[in-house]
This record gives sequence, C-alpha cells and structure tokens, in this order.
Amino acid sequence: MTLSFSELSLDRPMLDAVERLGYTQPTPIQEQAIPQIIAGRDVVGCAQTGTGKTAAFVLPILQRLGKGQGVRALVVTPTRELCAQIDAVARACAKLTGQHVVAVYGGVPYEPQVQKVRRGVDVVIATPGRLLDMIQRGDLTLSKVEIVVLDEADRMLDMGFWPDVQRIIRKLPEKRQNLLFSATMSRGVLEAVRDTLHDPVRIQIGEVAMPVDEVNQAVYPVNIDQKTDLLVQFLRHHKPPRALIFTRTKHRADRLEHALARHGIKGTIMHSNRTQSQREKALEGFKNGRYSVLIATDIVARGIDVDGISHVVNYDIPTKPEDYVHRIGRTARAGASGEAVILLTADDVHELKAIERLIGSEIERRDLPGFEYEHRHIPDSKDVPKRPGKMLYRGGAQRAMQRGFRFSKKVAH
Ligand code: AMP
Repeated sequence: MTLSFSELSLDRPMLDAVERLGYTQPTPIQEQAIPQIIAGRDVVGCAQTGTGKTAAFVLPILQRLGKGQGVRALVVTPTRELCAQIDAVARACAKLTGQHVVAVYGGVPYEPQVQKVRRGVDVVIATPGRLLDMIQRGDLTLSKVEIVVLDEADRMLDMGFWPDVQRIIRKLPEKRQNLLFSATMSRGVLEAVRDTLHDPVRIQIGEVAMPVDEVNQAVYPVNIDQKTDLLVQFLRHHKPPRALIFTRTKHRADRLEHALARHGIKGTIMHSNRTQSQREKALEGFKNGRYSVLIATDIVARGIDVDGISHVVNYDIPTKPEDYVHRIGRTARAGASGEAVILLTADDVHELKAIERLIGSEIERRDLPGFEYEHRHIPDSKDVPKRPGKMLYRGGAQRAMQRGFRFSKKVAH
C-alpha cells in the first residue's frame, strides 16, 4: 500500500509545494525518507537519480527549518548541473515557505553568487570547490547549519571531492542532522557513513546499483572502424525521439558530433569543457526537441534531468561498471520504458563482463537489420577470463552486510 503525501507528516505549505511540482503520489524513497527526516533522524538513502530523491530531502528540510537567521541547511552535490536541478526544486518549494535558497557552484562568476548570499540565505545548495572558496574568503559561514545533505556521495568520492567534503564538514556545528544519498554503497561510502552520520536510518530503493527493470538492454557487437556507421544506421532505423549517447572523453564527444553532422544528424554536446551557458543551451535544445541527440561524458551526465529519453547509447562502453547503471538510469524514468544499447568492440569485452557481473545477468546480443557488417572478431564475454584485481560494488554490498550494515526496509522500485 502506498501512502499519499498527506500521510507523510508534511504540513500545509509543503503539500501545496508538492501540488505545484505536479506530484500526485510519493515515490518509494519519498515515502520512506520524508517522515524520518521530519522526525530529525540521520538518514542514508541508497537510491539512484530518477527515484525522486531530490524532493525526498528538499520537502522535509524546508519544513524543519522554519524561520531563522543564516544558513541552516546545506546540500553538497558533485556537479553544477545537479546543483542547479536541486536549486530549482528547492526554490519552487521555498516560494511557499518564504525561505531563501541560493546555489553556489563554480564555472560562473563569483560576485553575483556572493551578492545573493549577502542578501540573506537559509538554504545553500553547493558544489564543494566554490563553497570552500566562499568560506575561505569569509563570504559565507556554516556555523548555524542544522541539516546537511551529502548528495551522490559515491560520485563525490569517485571524483576525488571527498577531502573537500571533509573540510566542509569540519566547518559545521557538531550537533546537526546528516542525510547522505548514494546510488552505490562502496567501501568509501560506508566509511563516510560511519565517520559522519549518527545512528542513521537506512533506506534502500531497489537493489544496490541495479538498473531499473523497465530498461530494455542490448549489446551490438561491431568492428571498431564501423562503430560510427552502425550508430548512424541505428539512429536512422530507430529514429529515437531523444537519444543520449555516451563517449569516453570530451574529445571523442566532439568528434562524434562532427561525424554525425556529416551524416545529417544534428546533435548537441555536454561535457566539462563547455561553458555553463553552452551546457544550458544544449540541455534546453535537447528538452525542447531541437536536437534529438545529446552526446555526453559521464562527469556531466548526472545533471541531465530530462524526462522522455528513449534511448541511451553507450557509444563507448564505460570503464567503470557502475557508470553503466548511472548512464542507463537516464532512460525509463517515472515508469516509462527505455532502450539502452552498448556498441561492443573486441577491446571492450572485459568491461562488458564486469557490467554483466555487476547487474547479475547477461545482456542480449543483437544485430541491426540491414547493416552490412564486416567480419567481426569479438569474443563472447563468457569466454573471457576475469580481469584480476577489480572491485565490484556487488562485493561492496556484501561487505556492507558482513559489517552489520542493515537496510531498514527493502522496497522494489
Ligand atoms: P530525482 O531522482 O530527484 O532526480 O527525480 C527524478 C524525476 O522524477 C524528476 O524529474 C522529478 O521531477 C520527478 N519526480 C520526483 N518525485 C516525483 C513524484 N512523487 N511523482 C512524479 N514525479 C516525481
């Protein structure tokens, strides 16, 4: 039985905010996390982006803050896109409660952000670098923070932000409420939980680092020099209304965009060399249908909050298996279905094997009808020996259990 928003201890302004956001029923993470956060508990949420986790912490935080002076809630998140996305949800809700929300992130001029902070702020949504900058310059103090959220903790660890995050945590008052969200529970995340949180309630949505069932996954084996031709043919054949294509590097994203353009396919790019306004334009164009193809790298992909992505194409297979889960989580959101494909060359078989081990199943091999394949030499992933020394998150979850890490409730998403 799912509960309604009004059964989650939310008060009137927050229920109005929910209505404004257009949500009718809480998602599983919202149903479980909201009452616990309102009750003042520390919470560890093991949930991917796309599960509704933003509202799961934004709503109860705004409710708990009430009126006061200074920064009383802080959300730390790895990328500016995520920062902007959380900021948008928080500002929409705070309109009804009268609190001030400011986003603090790098890559844009410092001064306008500081001016907003100086005008008075209750909630700061920040990326670690710019936040530390502001603290060090004496433009922001965290001594009144009552609630801190560490969002996408696994990604902050992966990106090497953790020392910065720890520096930020040391600036916070001892007595505070801590919320941590992570798609995967690696050893690093477990240590962060142990070191930072106090007797947390654990909430897990779905399996650890598991792709959502609604994603139809397939592998297309292809020779390396036919990869782009296969992609072109794939796009012509399937005519996806919104396809998100991943490459390993920024340079490869640029090159692919040019190659597609030569075939008359107009795409746009998102990677960390693009300016903030270029990224916003790319996202906007992708959202409004000007571009049916968006080419991205993993670092920025987490900020892509676009509904209706019909296809995720792994033009380059991810080198970290958990990135595969993050990538394909961009499609099949809010109950819709989606396709995720991997273009597999002979060099990628080890990576595919790691992905299949992580998700616990083999991904179906397919050929594109009508495509003139050259002779392929691509070993089956079953025939490839395991690469030594690779840690998989599945092991991480098992270790977590061995260390007494228990999840409060298992809910299938
Ligand atoms: P998040 O996991 O916070 O990135 O949210 C993923 C997407 O789900 C966003 O586009 C939200 O607007 C949407 N969403 C969040 N909560 C709900 C809800 N209760 N009902 C419908 N959509 C939601």
